[in-house]
Amino acid sequence: MLSLTTSLRQIDPACDALVDAVEQAPSLALMLVAAWQLARTLTVRLVESVLAQRTRQPTAWPLCPRCGARLQSKGFVPRQILSLVGVIRWERRVGRCPHGCKIGQLAPLDAALGLAPQPRTSGELKQAGCALAVFVPFETGGALLSLLSGVRVSPGTVWLWVQEAGQRAMQRLAQELQDLLEGQAPAEEPIEPQTAALPLVIGADGVMVPFRPAEGTPKGKTVWREVKVAILARLGRHTTRTGHAAPRLERRRVVAVLGAIAALAPRLWLEALRQGIRKAKQVAWLSAGARGFWRLFAENLSPYAIGILDFYHAAQNVWKGAAAWLAGRTKRARQWFVVARHRLRHGEADKVLTDIAQALELDGLPDSARETLTKLYTYLDKHRDHINYAQLKELGLPIGSGLVESACKWLIQQRFKGVGMRWSNDGFHHLLHLRLSWVNGRFESLFLPEASPNC
Ligand SMILES: [Zn+2]
Repeated sequence: MLSLTTSLRQIDPACDALVDAVEQAPSLALMLVAAWQLARTLTVRLVESVLAQRTRQPTAWPLCPRCGARLQSKGFVPRQILSLVGVIRWERRVGRCPHGCKIGQLAPLDAALGLAPQPRTSGELKQAGCALAVFVPFETGGALLSLLSGVRVSPGTVWLWVQEAGQRAMQRLAQELQDLLEGQAPAEEPIEPQTAALPLVIGADGVMVPFRPAEGTPKGKTVWREVKVAILARLGRHTTRTGHAAPRLERRRVVAVLGAIAALAPRLWLEALRQGIRKAKQVAWLSAGARGFWRLFAENLSPYAIGILDFYHAAQNVWKGAAAWLAGRTKRARQWFVVARHRLRHGEADKVLTDIAQALELDGLPDSARETLTKLYTYLDKHRDHINYAQLKELGLPIGSGLVESACKWLIQQRFKGVGMRWSNDGFHHLLHLRLSWVNGRFESLFLPEASPNC
């Protein structure tokens, strides 16, 4: 039996030098590099030979989209495309309308292969470039792609691919929002029964991102703009290395928008419908104090979700109240706070409210303290339904919003706040939507070949 290296030499004499390089490599690392080179060359050969076979099969000519006459062959025309493994070259028959309609040359084989007429770069190479760009700067992405595939790709090219794909993602979202507006709800995403049984938790936060002050130029002082981010996830548990059970967000879905909370609301609702908010056994909205987000909850989610005011935020405000009321009497303030915090935590929010109401009736309470205590009372009273922490604990729900808020922050900061980064409006949006597609598990569908309209 022939050894693999001998067979490879026999397949194609051009592989000789590449096989030599593998056999003579002094280290394993160099051997792998040489073998990878050989594998890429063989892949190109294999694909080219299969394309050559396909091109010899009879062509089913489509009809002219203008006049309906059957197209006629004009012979073979070469085509090449840059792919993840290198340049692929082949020839295929092209046809024209016999009546001379200006429809250009159509290549049925291209259409059958899922290729649009124009691109000189294959979809999977663009997809790989865009996937890298989701995580690392364009320059690093181009370098990594070159390193892994051997194909030279400039950062500018990766950036162009991101624009193309990001634009597709944005158009898709715009269409979905329009459909929703017209009363057409999105399809629910399939979900495993085990995961579906977990509570659906939703939270939102604002994250600042550095932008260029003016479009078209990198000059001038950085402008920080707030991106509103919401996350929807199933609340699972996992066991840490030290053996503790800790909460973990599963099946994270993210929506984000550069703009007001009003713009976030329909995006969040679209995703909430996709994540089965109407069927979920338990839905919880987790948030710290920000009023705009609580309004979003009240207007959009409250019929389906339990609202949870971040316990630590609530406790912090209770401390501020204690400090203002018992100013100068630090020990008393601390004692009162410890009791109040304990009560709050264990389902006795009403007692805390009563305490504050009684303090407000005291004679000689300074105006500033009265103001702080009144604010605290109003705040806790307004959130009366969102601070039943003992009950929430019993339901297995978290009492802090840190988990969801840090997920929001991380998803944006990790890519958009690198050292020296400053975004243009378009550049930010294209990459944001690619990143959202990635996190939401819809990245690949952005690169599926679209059916050609004519063939
Ligand atoms: Zn025609």
